[in-house]
Amino acid sequence: MTRKLFWEDAYLREFEAKIISVDGNQIVLDQTAFHPRGGGLVGDTGTLAGARVLDTIKGAAESIVHVLEPATAPAVGSPVRGEIDWDRRHRIMRMHTSAHLLSAIFHKETGALITGNQIEPDKSRIDFSLEDFDRDKMLVYCGQANEAIAKNPPVKTYFMKREEALQIPGITKLASVMPPEVKDLRIVEIEGYDLQADGGVHVKNLGEIGKIEPLKFENKGKSNRRLYFTIP
Ligand SMILES: [Zn+2]
Repeated sequence: MTRKLFWEDAYLREFEAKIISVDGNQIVLDQTAFHPRGGGLVGDTGTLAGARVLDTIKGAAESIVHVLEPATAPAVGSPVRGEIDWDRRHRIMRMHTSAHLLSAIFHKETGALITGNQIEPDKSRIDFSLEDFDRDKMLVYCGQANEAIAKNPPVKTYFMKREEALQIPGITKLASVMPPEVKDLRIVEIEGYDLQADGGVHVKNLGEIGKIEPLKFENKGKSNRRLYFTIP
């Protein structure tokens, strides 16, 4: 099990760690600030002991695997210094919190659930299960998201007992994915707007997003609507 430094501080850019295992170009550390790919989020990139980290993925037994450029892996046991590509990661955090906010507003206004999402540094998308395909209404919801951002409420993360968390209406707005079978669920709360069971990285204040810019609305079939957005 890799200690998730990004849960303790999502703003940690550099850290020291010890190499637990090396399998080809795949490195597991005792602790890391690199967030793995999953749940629609891309994995972090950066450097580890000077070598490029091309991707970060989830491994067996709660481990986090750093995928290095081939033939650059340091030896097991050696202490290493890691540094994440901060500009990219900070955009991912802003995009991710934006996705939670948009989901919360669409859910509140229409009851829509999330059927998919892809959070990337430059452009993200969310799929909603939504009968109506009304661009004007969807633009209004995006406007409401920007009004929320202007109010700059805090974004908090904490743990809650699973039974207690699952009582909260809308704690998971994903149509298919249930939170993991753990005793304590990690909660991401946008104060006044949203509470979600979530393992990802987020900004501390909504104002850090700046502005959400909707790029495109797509009709993806019977009751599937897709929103592409960016943050300028
Ligand atoms: Zn999330």
